[in-house]
Amino acid sequence: MPLRETEAIVLRTYRLAEADKIASLFTRQMGRVRAVAAGARRTKSRYGAALEPLSHVRAFIFEREHRDLLRMNAAELIESFFDMQKDYRVQLAAQYLAEVAEGMIPEREPNDRLFRLFLAVLRSLKHSGEVTRPLLYFDYWLIRLAGFLPDFDHCQNCGRALGERGGFYAPGSEGLVCDTCRTGVAGQRVSVAPAVRAGCHKPLERWIAEEKAPAGCREARRFFEDLIETHAERKLVTRAMMEEAV
Ligand SMILES: [Zn+2]
Repeated sequence: MPLRETEAIVLRTYRLAEADKIASLFTRQMGRVRAVAAGARRTKSRYGAALEPLSHVRAFIFEREHRDLLRMNAAELIESFFDMQKDYRVQLAAQYLAEVAEGMIPEREPNDRLFRLFLAVLRSLKHSGEVTRPLLYFDYWLIRLAGFLPDFDHCQNCGRALGERGGFYAPGSEGLVCDTCRTGVAGQRVSVAPAVRAGCHKPLERWIAEEKAPAGCREARRFFEDLIETHAERKLVTRAMMEEAV
């Protein structure tokens, strides 16, 4: 039963029996896992603030062969993202990240780029107070790293260039189609503005510090959320909550 040390982001915790919790974690070295944190519900637990939602922690985890649920031996807080969640918009954004991560990140597949992306997005939520661009950036790179970012410039059906007006997207599909190919497709016109795409290719911190949000961020986010829902094969609860809160 090897003990492993790994950085992790706490996605959520669930109560388990009297004194324990189950922690859903996105770890740097082991990918997404679930682990029992024994004694975590006691007032004086050794986990302290390390199991608050979205805490960046160093976790010590026992791997148990043939068992889905691992066992966490201890966790130390590296950086907290808890206070920022006093702002309701940021709290919803944080819950959105956790929900999307649980729905989209495969279990037990380490992904260092995705881990670094997640941390950069959390830090930007914490320090900028802005919600739209950090979430847009998260969605864009999550989709891109997962390999289902569609071609924004060409029709997925006939390959024709879509031009500035963009293409049509039908919920449930994986790409954009042109005016000709959209016949019979109940979709909506979607374009991802070049300035939005360019922004997503800068370091997030710099993009937010140096420029105002370009037009089209919200539209792009909505489109990315559609793609995520299609791939996760379910509606995102926090997406609806965020739309209500705006
Ligand atoms: Zn076409």
